[in-house]
Amino acid sequence: MPVSSGIHHLTAICGEPMRAIDFHARVLGLRLVKKTVNFDDPSAWHFYFGDETGSPGSILTFFARPDAEPGRPGAGEVVSLAFAIPMDAAAFWIDRFNDEGVPFGLAEGGRALAFHNPDGLALELIETAEAGALPAYAGEDIPAECAIRGFANVTLLVADAAATARVLTQGLGWTPESHARLGDYMRIRFAAPEKPALGGALDLLTSQTLATGAQGVGSVHHIAFRARDAAEQTALAQAIRDLDLTPTQVRDRTYFKSIYFREPSGVLFEIATDGPGFAVDEPVDELGARLCLPPALEPRRAAILKALPRVG
Ligand code: ZN
Repeated sequence: MPVSSGIHHLTAICGEPMRAIDFHARVLGLRLVKKTVNFDDPSAWHFYFGDETGSPGSILTFFARPDAEPGRPGAGEVVSLAFAIPMDAAAFWIDRFNDEGVPFGLAEGGRALAFHNPDGLALELIETAEAGALPAYAGEDIPAECAIRGFANVTLLVADAAATARVLTQGLGWTPESHARLGDYMRIRFAAPEKPALGGALDLLTSQTLATGAQGVGSVHHIAFRARDAAEQTALAQAIRDLDLTPTQVRDRTYFKSIYFREPSGVLFEIATDGPGFAVDEPVDELGARLCLPPALEPRRAAILKALPRVG
């Protein structure tokens, strides 16, 4: 049976492009690994943030829609993302968020900070035992021993947890690990096969009374799962079709190849190949420095750049 070895990336919607870059690259210290446009709408920026090379399991991306309405979190959406930080790094982030004026709450006995990005997307930093051993992308004022490593965990709010769980287990090969009751909510925690250090955990939250969300600024647009290569993606697509769901044809996203489908609770799922990665059109030490366009849009570079809001 084909399996997806983890979460590849999460794509959300941001408002003001400069504000999103400042928060994620400077305040959180993620690397802006790619500045491109939404391939389906080149009038909008698409920013990719991640570790030094944009490894699968570290990538948070944003479509910029400065004129869109704020989203309303609800059922059928990814509602939060937790990043892994090394053990004992929370104290550094508490000081940093206090200095930066980022409101936050503490959880997990002080080992996790819960906060929102400037557009209202719910994020967390959580001390994780495996994080310290992973390579760090350290910025000027964020020491390596405290830097974010990538995704610890992603939370989906769904009306039909059993139907979504079937996609995760039978479609993607993930395993339910634990059930917990949190107030009015039931949480099922899933683990990816072989439990990778990054992007290997996902929570389904459900409740009897769930409002439907509205997608907008601050919402997650979709979640992408990893396929090691095209053959594994083809096999996963068949497993998805066997669940009577309808994945799209393969789309070339330059940095990976993707298929998309909507799971039964309404969350947009993508399956993206690990390769070729972000160094395919600019060297690793220059990632994110310039606007990168796919070959089909390159002839329109001047007009596209002129129409985009200025950044940097
Ligand atoms: Zn995507």
